[in-house]
Amino acid sequence: MIQISDVSKAFNGISVLDGLNLEIPIGQKVALLGPSGSGKTTILRLLMTLETIDAGQVRIEGVPMYEGAPDTRRLLPEGQLRAVRSRIGMVFQHFGLFPHLNVLNNIALPQILNGQAGKTEAENRAHELLQMVGLGEKAYLLPDQLSGGQKQRVAIARALALQPDILLFDEPTSALDPQRVSEVLDLLNMICRKTGTTMLLVTHEMEFARQFADRILFFDHGQIVEDGAPDVVFTNPKDNRTRAFLGLPV
Ligand code: ATP
Repeated sequence: MIQISDVSKAFNGISVLDGLNLEIPIGQKVALLGPSGSGKTTILRLLMTLETIDAGQVRIEGVPMYEGAPDTRRLLPEGQLRAVRSRIGMVFQHFGLFPHLNVLNNIALPQILNGQAGKTEAENRAHELLQMVGLGEKAYLLPDQLSGGQKQRVAIARALALQPDILLFDEPTSALDPQRVSEVLDLLNMICRKTGTTMLLVTHEMEFARQFADRILFFDHGQIVEDGAPDVVFTNPKDNRTRAFLGLPV
């Protein structure tokens, strides 16, 4: 379970999240939608501890990430955060692969650096994951020798290699041709079936969100204005901001 409780965050004095509350149970597939600048990516980044919060608390499986008074939070010391951090992986919008490492090493190296596996075990796992994402033949190519869709699959395999319970995706389809989008959808669904990984995904692609998610969260100015199953949110949203965004009569 991810628990975001009363979380506030401002950049340069401008509030982005203001008292946000959100609970996500294990295994749920959640799509975060909403206008540009509404705070979606900030939520992923704070779960990754790439951003810190100003107030509130974030708990992963009951384990807090912050200490100090509720309105002046600071991250727990590195040693205490490690266990929580290791549960969460992220696939970045532009993949973030190491350009000078071949595909196999892109997937193996983080496992070695994290102390999760020795070289042979890490490489074996990398080969297995490459098979799983349909890139068994590409292990010794450099990222630049792959298509956008293939890079995306390597980035997903790399995140999975660290065996996270929770995977975060920042616009996983934005850099892909339309025909690749359904491949990503199939891959994510297959991963969910196999691993039960909880997934949070920021996207601007409504059809992708509808097909992928069990739950849609619609954000506006850092607040959740809609929270429900795709069929309900897309066909009969209750909030006028969601209706306007989806082009439905308000
Ligand atoms: P998009 O759909 O365009 O990616 P988003 O909903 O993901 O938008 P965020 O990236 O979470 O929005 O940004 C929310 C607000 O916070 C924006 O106004 C953005 O300019 C601001 N912001 C985000 N990161 C920073 C930062 N590091 N420094 C200053 N402002 C930031």
